[in-house]
Amino acid sequence: MGAEWVLVLNCGSSSVKLALVDPASGERRVTGLAERVGTSGATVHLCRDGVEDTSVPEDPSSRGALTHLMASLDDGERDSLVGVGHRVVHGGSRFSASVAVDDAILADLHSLVDLAPLHMPANLLGIETARDALPGLAQVAVFDTAFHQTMPPVAYRYAVPRDWYDEHHVRRYGFHGTSHRFVSARAAEVLGRDVEDLRLVVLHLGNGCSAAAVRGGESIDTTMGLTPLEGLVMGTRSGDVDPGLLGYVARRLDLDVEGVVDALNTRSGLLALSGISNDMRTVCEAAEQGSPDARLAVDVFCYRAAKAVGALAVALGGLDAVVLTGGIGEHSAEVRRGILSHLGVLGLHEDPSANAEHGRGTSGRVSREDHPVALVVPTDEELLIARDTAHLAAQAVGEPVR
Ligand code: ADP
Repeated sequence: MGAEWVLVLNCGSSSVKLALVDPASGERRVTGLAERVGTSGATVHLCRDGVEDTSVPEDPSSRGALTHLMASLDDGERDSLVGVGHRVVHGGSRFSASVAVDDAILADLHSLVDLAPLHMPANLLGIETARDALPGLAQVAVFDTAFHQTMPPVAYRYAVPRDWYDEHHVRRYGFHGTSHRFVSARAAEVLGRDVEDLRLVVLHLGNGCSAAAVRGGESIDTTMGLTPLEGLVMGTRSGDVDPGLLGYVARRLDLDVEGVVDALNTRSGLLALSGISNDMRTVCEAAEQGSPDARLAVDVFCYRAAKAVGALAVALGGLDAVVLTGGIGEHSAEVRRGILSHLGVLGLHEDPSANAEHGRGTSGRVSREDHPVALVVPTDEELLIARDTAHLAAQAVGEPVR
């Protein structure tokens, strides 16, 4: 293959994603997905040179599915690897950049499991399984939280009892950092400006949604907090609610706190408001066909995203661009229109024909050619993971890269 390739792994609690990525060009040679892992229906899909293959792993556990996926790589692909990059959801306050994993780092990562008990065990299993299967290769952890470690205390502290912060790490961390970092750098390129001079609000709108204020290339505030539940309305997550709701609903429905939090994570958001789906495309179609609940779901989603842009513009002290990304941000002209319809106060106005074309003929611009602008910039978290991994693989273990 000639080029040096990176194996990018995203090990979740119910699925495992794999991609063989060229960190220079972003080309994918192989992509793989294991679905429904840990159940008897576990299935592995592999796509190589455009040809798809589906199989059933002998061992349906996460480790079994991942081992099966990695065993699908041929000798040439394995020999071309410079390292393995892992998406890791939480780096706590310890990790402000990607890091090559050695035994000490692995122990640090294990100490962070409590901050994300649903995701961290799967992420760590991915690192340990890949280390066993591909010994001698650099294993690099790329954190969803790392980009937001530049937030100042005024943005990351909650007004809660002091020992919660001092002893239990209760603060705002933020997530989607890899996407916010990738997209803000790309936005600067597209605008032909030095990222140092830019004040950006990035709206990452996918199944999970968050907004970040990026000044001079650094995150200074974001909408997600201790967990990914805070902030914007999402597919199945409520985003911000009155914390007093927890006690009230727990009493009324005879639930414990975990039960209420689970409902806020998995049965809320677009799904709850529309009563139809957590998937924005389906909700938009239902709104189009006259469902008032689906219409309200889209309206609440857009209103809340626009309010976040306003708040983050205040944090930035001004605004040069709103950058939209993620499945919804990149593909839904209707949602972008809904968000922009609230932002005239900041000088942002939709350009209807550019927006309908997703900014394709206008270098991503979907607003009028004023200042500030709204831009669509496709995200590529796997590519940034591949780049960090290639970079760190060439350095000593344990040194951070920004
Ligand atoms: P993830 O956060 O899991 O990576 P994506 O970034 O792919 O997910 O975003 C998924 C969301 O994007 C879904 O709500 C999906 O409906 C939405 N989406 C994708 N294409 C469109 C579209 N054309 N119109 C509206 N929503 C879309």
